[in-house]
Amino acid sequence: MDYRIRTWPDKILKEPTKEVDFFDERLKEYIDKMWEFMYKEEGVGLAANQIGIPYQILVLDTTVREKRREEEKEDPVKMVLVNPKIVEKEGEVQSTEGCLSFPGVQITIPRAKRVKVVAKNEKGEDVVVESQEFLAIVLQHEIDHLNGIPFINYLSPLKRKLVLDKYLKSLKERELERA
Ligand SMILES: [Zn+2]
Repeated sequence: MDYRIRTWPDKILKEPTKEVDFFDERLKEYIDKMWEFMYKEEGVGLAANQIGIPYQILVLDTTVREKRREEEKEDPVKMVLVNPKIVEKEGEVQSTEGCLSFPGVQITIPRAKRVKVVAKNEKGEDVVVESQEFLAIVLQHEIDHLNGIPFINYLSPLKRKLVLDKYLKSLKERELERA
């Protein structure tokens, strides 16, 4: 498989990923690759399709952010979730987010304050995650990726167009620099 960070408008980011029914060496290889890319790119979380794997897998490590913002006091969490689904949502917060698939883009969008997620771990065992604050936001962002929903979808059509035009322009400039 061709593992590399997929950036918008790569079509793999627009399609829902498939459910995992293999809890074996192949899954382990996918997860290892995901950790590798997430840490290399200094992300807090990564969805499998962001590196070209079309399955419902996410990894996250909030210590990556703890190192940068020490004022955040939540306990750091590191986890792998397979086939994650949000089953409960509560409250609303404004969240300022970036995304490895949209280099240079940072936007503020509404997110639920608390979410409950059911999933499997890498061994295929059921897990339930009750989350709030930053963890809840990372989970929503990554699970959206797995469902083919980029964070720009939460912007109004006008705002989305402005953000995308600017992003695509910077993408083109970067390609020209490289050429
Ligand atoms: Zn993202």
